[in-house]
Amino acid sequence: MNKRIYLDYSATTPMKQEVLEEMLPYFTERFGNPSSIHSFGREAKQAIDQARSRLAKAIGAKQDEIYFTGGGSEADNWAIKGVAYANRDKGNHIITTKIEHHAVLHTCEYLEKDGFEVTYLDVDEYGMISLEQLRNAITDRTILITLMFANNEIGTIQPIGEIGAIAREKGIYFHTDAVQALGNVKIDVNALNIDLMSMSAHKIYGPKGVGGLYIRKGVKIHSLIHGGAQERRRRAGTENLPGIVGFGKAAELAIENLDGHIRHVKDLRDRLIKGIMDKVDYVRFNGHPENRLPGNAHFAFEFIEGESLLLSLDMLGIAGSSGSACTSGSLDPSHVLMAIGLPHEIAHGSLRLTIGDFTTAEEIDYVINELPKIVDRLRQMSPLYEKVKGGQK
Ligand SMILES: *Cc1c(COP(=O)(O)O)cnc(C)c1O
Repeated sequence: MNKRIYLDYSATTPMKQEVLEEMLPYFTERFGNPSSIHSFGREAKQAIDQARSRLAKAIGAKQDEIYFTGGGSEADNWAIKGVAYANRDKGNHIITTKIEHHAVLHTCEYLEKDGFEVTYLDVDEYGMISLEQLRNAITDRTILITLMFANNEIGTIQPIGEIGAIAREKGIYFHTDAVQALGNVKIDVNALNIDLMSMSAHKIYGPKGVGGLYIRKGVKIHSLIHGGAQERRRRAGTENLPGIVGFGKAAELAIENLDGHIRHVKDLRDRLIKGIMDKVDYVRFNGHPENRLPGNAHFAFEFIEGESLLLSLDMLGIAGSSGSACTSGSLDPSHVLMAIGLPHEIAHGSLRLTIGDFTTAEEIDYVINELPKIVDRLRQMSPLYEKVKGGQK
């Protein structure tokens, strides 16, 4: 089978043609260093300004509140370490959740070794935090709440507006990892009271290795990368000019097409979910039923190993994920699935299929047709499944 079906848009997305075309001249004739004062430099500087303004517009920020980084992970590291060290005189307590991306979790763990205290909030079976638990976790030493906008594995979207209001009321900085939310949810950093927000280009049909951090004017933060005076002296290093140009274009396209994009991926996702749930027994649907990313479908098939399922799908050219790309390769079920209370053996049979702009109805129908057959075949090899089936007769 030559046709390949990509259903892993939460891991990364293909670049859009318009994004590539916008980037290309900045590899060759418009190659200037944005810090140079000659015309080559000014041309490059202008392109970066334009990208910054596009990003700002996409999230309701001011242009000088957008900082470009080397991706979403760097933005998370910068926000958390930067705020922690700059506000150490006020306190050493940080609040986050058990279901954050590793770029946030591992940064918090690192800070714990350096005298910071971190509260990891629980989530319910749908992956939702409790606002009451959040309120109760706040102390007079709390300096930062870092809480993801939308989860990359199960797709659950948190009540960001309410969290922002609580943080604002208590005078605590609020950072959110919006890498999955950007381009999938309407975001206005002012309406939501967000102080810092991480973004990444390759999750919104832009290039890899470039991202951004929104930093509200007035937020006290240290730099992560020291050196030259780029990014208004806050993030050193010659700018990734083509990458930043591509990120700006991708953000502009994402906002222009937001409603159409949401409708497209949601329709296909619902078709996929219905198709699978109708045809397969012993399957759970994970994440919040309504408050979830429009393109995210997450299943856990009992009596199955997610890895075998992925390999069988891959043989048919279907690309999915068994958790987050970063966790594959380890035998433990992901921290997110543990946090929502999925029993180990069921979490092992999990499958994330994420849909994007290039996904078609034919592709989804093909998956609806093939996936149940694979599940059935794999289950025939499970002694436990035979027992359960037998017991029902
Ligand atoms: C992909 C992702 C990141 C990391 O972004 P990179 O640009 O790949 O470093 C961080 N947080 C979430 C929620 C993600 O999905």
